[in-house]
Amino acid sequence: AKKERFDFQKLVVEVLALVDREARKQKVKIETFLHYPPYLKGDRNLLKQALLNVLLNAVEAMEGGGVLKIYLDYNVKSREIVLTVADSGPGIPPEILQKICQPFFTTKEKGTGLGLPFTKRVVEFHLGNLMIKSEVGKGTWVIITLPVGEGSY
Ligand code: ADP
Ligand code: MG
Repeated sequence: AKKERFDFQKLVVEVLALVDREARKQKVKIETFLHYPPYLKGDRNLLKQALLNVLLNAVEAMEGGGVLKIYLDYNVKSREIVLTVADSGPGIPPEILQKICQPFFTTKEKGTGLGLPFTKRVVEFHLGNLMIKSEVGKGTWVIITLPVGEGSY
């Protein structure tokens, strides 16, 4: 993997542009709340693919429309970037939630089940964390933390 310093906010904006068409098609409204974190060190391309997977999952989950909220924050104390992707989709029942990061687990007809395992690996490779919270009937929150200071990748 590569190691370069880059602007994470800019990366988020780039990935949002990639899902924009699909979101419009599905009547998904995107709302962003983007703070400006310090530069991150890591592999920009791997992280781009990782974020794209999460955003596409969110858009795909909102059949018939919904709201996709993206929060980009910086936790000064822990020196971590915190990215939250919240969708208003159907949510994930607990018994499924525990399986969704397993390779090849998919509930989609044409799914690969490789998106989340890849994303988790990339985030953990950067010494970060991927958490998924979900409530049936309400939606799903994917929370990614990435350290930027000491203890970063
Ligand atoms: P794929 O998208 O190919 O199915 P992923 O690894 O990206 O593979 O996701 C695995 C499964 O996790 C999906 O099939 C879906 O059941 C579930 N999932 C992921 N993200 C969401 C989400 N935002 N809302 C509801 N279900 C989700
Ligand atoms: Mg996927």
